[in-house]
Amino acid sequence: MTIDLKDYRVPQGNKAGLSRRPTIVAPYCKTKKAYRELLEEHMKKLSSLQDLHYASHRYALLLIFQGMDAAGKDGAIRHVMSGINPEGCEVFSFKQPSAEELDHDFLWRTTCRLPERGRIGIFNRSYYEDVLVVRVHPELLRSQGLPEELRDEKDIWQQRYDSIVNLEKHLHRNGTKTIKIFLHLSYDEQRKRFLERIDEPDKHWKFSTSDIHERKYWKHYMRAYEDCFHATSTHRAPWYIVPADDKENARLIVSQIVLDTLGDLKMSYPKTSAKRHLELRAAKKLLVK
Ligand code: AMP
Ligand code: MG
Repeated sequence: MTIDLKDYRVPQGNKAGLSRRPTIVAPYCKTKKAYRELLEEHMKKLSSLQDLHYASHRYALLLIFQGMDAAGKDGAIRHVMSGINPEGCEVFSFKQPSAEELDHDFLWRTTCRLPERGRIGIFNRSYYEDVLVVRVHPELLRSQGLPEELRDEKDIWQQRYDSIVNLEKHLHRNGTKTIKIFLHLSYDEQRKRFLERIDEPDKHWKFSTSDIHERKYWKHYMRAYEDCFHATSTHRAPWYIVPADDKENARLIVSQIVLDTLGDLKMSYPKTSAKRHLELRAAKKLLVK
């Protein structure tokens, strides 16, 4: 079974109204067993594609995960990771920037973590936070240390979108494929997941009282996300808005996105030259003596 990703991809220039996009769709699998089998099938395909990606050493793949608290970013990343060789993949989480990070431009801290050729880099939050949480809380912008004349709140978001689009264009030209995934959670499902975190002792660590405070800004976040998708979803580096109220379905969609993206890259195992064939034959002779 293949999942059609057309419904989730944001076309370049599309307004991507989040209220018109579902946070839940009919499950792709009717039973738990069918779900596990399909996920396993995805993981097997992913594993062999990653092997090819690593061996061909041509492209790098950057996967960016964004979403509200409790949207399932960590779980989705864990699932993608479970199908791949950890040697070829690295995950980085970006939280409140450090003093050192704030002394640089907003793209600096993530640029240092971009994946190398043949690798998969996963960003759990990213430079997009600088047009999301920072936009929702303008006091964060004021504490970023920018010169005052460069901090015009009317222009700065468009300027940052331009920087991001240009960065992703630059990455594309240098062989890095960028894919952005937004886990689209409903306000009510977030409430349920927060309650679970409060009610289950093993999940207490996941909950912070500031999460409740942040819920008050839900509409502001949705507006900031919509603007951001409109400005930064491109053919080369598209956004996918993945319905996230059903975690299992979301994981299937996410793994399909990674599969399709890797599958679309023109990759092949390095060719064995005539000279190398001779070397291999000689080596074999020594071993079978
Ligand atoms: P979590 O991912 O739940 O561990 O939380 C990380 C927190 O760091 C989130 O509330 C993000 O919004 C916040 N964060 C990430 N990047 C930035 C940034 N550039 N400026 C301010 N806050 C950020
Ligand atoms: Mg959090």
